[in-house]
Amino acid sequence: MQSTPALELPVYLDHAATTPLAPEVLADMLPFLTEAYGNASALHSLGARARSAVDQARETLADAIGADPEEVYFTSGGTEADNWALKGAAAASGRKHLLVSAVEHHAVLHPAATLGRSGWSVETIPVDSQGRVDPGEVRARLRNDTLLVSVMHANNEVGAIQPVREIGALCRERGVLFHVDAVQSLGKIPVRVREMHADMASFSAHKLYGPKGVGALYLRRGARVAPWMEGGEQERGKRAGTLNVPGIVGFASAVRRTLQGLEEESRRLAALRDRLAAQVLERVPDSTLNGPAQERLPGFAHFCFGGIEGESLLLALDMAGICASAGAACSSGSTEPSHVLLAMGIPLERARGALRLTLGRATTQEAVDYAAARIAEAVAGLRSMGSLSLA
Ligand code: PLP
Repeated sequence: MQSTPALELPVYLDHAATTPLAPEVLADMLPFLTEAYGNASALHSLGARARSAVDQARETLADAIGADPEEVYFTSGGTEADNWALKGAAAASGRKHLLVSAVEHHAVLHPAATLGRSGWSVETIPVDSQGRVDPGEVRARLRNDTLLVSVMHANNEVGAIQPVREIGALCRERGVLFHVDAVQSLGKIPVRVREMHADMASFSAHKLYGPKGVGALYLRRGARVAPWMEGGEQERGKRAGTLNVPGIVGFASAVRRTLQGLEEESRRLAALRDRLAAQVLERVPDSTLNGPAQERLPGFAHFCFGGIEGESLLLALDMAGICASAGAACSSGSTEPSHVLLAMGIPLERARGALRLTLGRATTQEAVDYAAARIAEAVAGLRSMGSLSLA
């Protein structure tokens, strides 16, 4: 008789917030934290070893996204890459009009708002009820003075994959810069910057089993974008600062390893995600699954439950050994309902009862079944408390 493997707690279903560092990635990084500690700009042999590791990492990332190594600039993560893209483009041009989708991460929305307060005209591109941008809505808003369009590849809350190729083609035709936040898509679906007609694209290592605090900006050769950080000559004079060699090596190692089994892992995650969604929808009355049925990242399941607060549900699930999220990790702590759900036309009350479950490498069928059962219990428990307090 086959025994069922014991379920390990906690069940981690928050891979969109961050992923654990893969042990093989750590092994690749370790020498650069210990004996190979040279500054990548130094002329001696230790410097040369660090520099060669960075060069190799740049080639790996460039290859993974279909760019040239000279078009890859390492940053401290996705937030920095997004800030550079928007503010760097604005600083290099006289054009004053920007278009950003309503469901962008705050790392795009906040710099856009800052530009809006400094004389730029910032317009929001709406999304449909699935969280997708219609390229026609972009076309209708392009102006002669449009500097930049920023639309993410895949959304970090509901996992909606955007028609970036079509939008990029429109921008290229009109001579408008196109920025794609690809932080959530790299390592989950193929990312090809040239096919997207992207001038800039943002990436982050910790979303694909790499280290936190390292990412990259793809900057198309010839795109007019101002340098970002002043100081030394690192990153071809555009982003000064001593390179985070272990982080960069870890980023490349994570990218290489993740892309190796991408298709198979995507199929596995999509099947588990569908199993989880079906169980939750069946067991929890008044529940809805958000986001597109097809154009969605494989490991993403996002729900709204009527009559409960997402935050209370998270606490109840945490006590049952399940790590989940109500929306973007960076917004947790705020009781504001998600701007993504509101942009999708989900009513405020319903948006308050949101739950995001994002699956990853360690997620098993047992974990998914356990989560569905605990979610059903927790929602029922919260609803009965709610009705008691109303009585
Ligand atoms: N963009 C998106 C779509 C994200 O999901 C995140 C992280 O949550 C970021 C940007 C920010 O990336 P980082 O955490 O590397 O700063």
